[in-house]
Amino acid sequence: MITTAFLGLGAMGFPMAAHLARAAVPGDRTLVWNRTFSKAQAHAAQYGTQAASLEEVAQADFIFSCLPTSAEVDELIARLRAHLKSGAWWIDCTSGHPAAAPRQATELAALGVRFIDAPVSGGVAGAGEGRLTVMLGGPEADVAAVLPRLAFAGKAVRVGDTGAGFAVKAMNNALLAATLWATGESLAVLARSGVELGAALEVINASSGRSNASENLIAQRVLTRQFPPTFALGLLAKDAGIALDMVQAVGGSAPLLAQTAGLVRGAAHLIGAKQDHTAALKLIEQMNGVELK
Ligand code: NDP
Repeated sequence: MITTAFLGLGAMGFPMAAHLARAAVPGDRTLVWNRTFSKAQAHAAQYGTQAASLEEVAQADFIFSCLPTSAEVDELIARLRAHLKSGAWWIDCTSGHPAAAPRQATELAALGVRFIDAPVSGGVAGAGEGRLTVMLGGPEADVAAVLPRLAFAGKAVRVGDTGAGFAVKAMNNALLAATLWATGESLAVLARSGVELGAALEVINASSGRSNASENLIAQRVLTRQFPPTFALGLLAKDAGIALDMVQAVGGSAPLLAQTAGLVRGAAHLIGAKQDHTAALKLIEQMNGVELK
């Protein structure tokens, strides 16, 4: 009998934990824990999981976490450490910091627990559909052992040793921020030029300037003025900041990434960290005196 636990039932964790429950075989248990415990109880009612205490989840064979940053993961490791079971696995799906991962892995290894960084991409829709892309960091054999457990994955790739998953995720999201921002600027200039933005996006999406931002975000979230809150602007600013930390840690030269991190952080301050990440374009609208619609 295998017990799997999921910590952090936020926008991503709630549907991810549901996939773990669906993949469980008779006799297996899926425990869920959330700081706001009513969400764990709602998950149990909806998916037949078990809302559990931290002491209970600490006894699981596979512990998944999906929290805002590595700092909250550190907090939970500290709270669980006295109860953890030797031989267990901790699979952290947070978009964490590559510098935190080796420290977390070492701390858990001292307790006989193996740590894998396994951040995800694909958004709330991808989590709901169980087709997330998972980028894993850790020793080859350890990653191979957890791959069959990733019931929420459409694609899972080992990208290197401990911390490499977090590193790739930070750079992926720095690219998201850069393309989102640059496309927003381009559209603001086109709007000022009197071009209809729906038509402009239709052409860009069939041309070489297209990106995930132009294809899947701006027409759907910005031009509709809906900005549905699925991925917080503050979390995107955090990811772009991690990418910038990485540039500095390796003595790299990446001025475009540095500028992107500053712009997205500024947008989070001015527009609101809890707004959807696409609301960053409201700042570009203010800078250009136009509305993207
Ligand atoms: P949410 O803000 O929706 O959820 C955050 C979760 O963390 C909640 O369960 C929250 O609990 C919990 N939490 C926050 N602070 C603490 C704390 N101090 N102690 C314990 N639990 C805490 O975030 P997301 O689900 O959107 O994001 C989670 C991670 O996934 C982030 O690293 C993000 O960058 C990444 N990510 C997000 C994507 C998205 O589209 N949303 C896509 C890919 C990655 P409570 O309910 O009590 O607030």
